[in-house]
Amino acid sequence: MAIESREQGAGSTAQGAGSRAGLARAGDEMCTEPRALDWDKQGGLLPAIVQDATNRRVLMLGYMNRQALATTLDSGRVTFYSRSKQRLWTKGESSGHFLQLVAITADCDADTLLVQAIPRGPTCHRGTPSCFDDAPADFLAELDTLIAQRHAQRPQGSYTTKLFDAGVRRIAQKVGEEGVETALAAVAQGDDELAGESADLIYHLLVLLRARGLGWDDVVAKLRERHR
Ligand SMILES: [Zn+2]
Repeated sequence: MAIESREQGAGSTAQGAGSRAGLARAGDEMCTEPRALDWDKQGGLLPAIVQDATNRRVLMLGYMNRQALATTLDSGRVTFYSRSKQRLWTKGESSGHFLQLVAITADCDADTLLVQAIPRGPTCHRGTPSCFDDAPADFLAELDTLIAQRHAQRPQGSYTTKLFDAGVRRIAQKVGEEGVETALAAVAQGDDELAGESADLIYHLLVLLRARGLGWDDVVAKLRERHR
C-alpha cells in the first residue's frame, strides 16, 4: 500500500503515481490521517526504513508517530519521532542534509514504513551516505547521478566535461566506436577485454543520454515496458 504526499512529484525520480495502489491518495484528509496503519502494535510508533529513491541504497532507520508521518507528507521533508529527544525531528534540521520525500509505502502488516527519498547531502552524522556501512546501491544509477552533476557543473579537467563540451555528435560517434569495439571484443578477445569495452560503451551511452536530456531511468522505463 502506498501513502502519498500532497506535494506529488517535487523532484521525484521514482515511479509514477499510476503504479501505486493508494492507501492515501493525494488529498488533504487521507494524507494526514492514514487510519489503516497499525499504530497500536508498537505504542504509536512505526519503524521507517529510508531508501535512496535514485540508487536504492538503504540510508537509515527511524521511527514515526502519526504526527511525524503527517509532517513528512505535508512538508515533503522526512521527519521522525526522536525517542531520545522525545520530540519530532526533521532529518537535516541542523545539518541541512534533508531527505526529500518521494514516496512512502507500508509493508504487508501495515506496521513498518518504507520511505523513498532523495538525500540532500550525506544521511549519516559521520558524513557517509548511509548509516549502514557498505549498504549496496545500484552503481549504474550512482554513475548516472555523477554524470548529471558533471553536466550541470562542468568541472575543468574532467573527461566527461570534455565530452559534453564536444557536443552530441561527437559523443554519439564515441558510442558508435565503443559499440564496434565491444562487438569485436566479443568475437576476438577475452572476457576481461569484453567487460572493459562494455564498460566504456555504457559510460559513453550514459553521457550521450544526458547530453540529450535523458537519464538511465528513461532507459529502465523502456526496458520495463518491454518486459510486461
Ligand atoms: Zn548514521
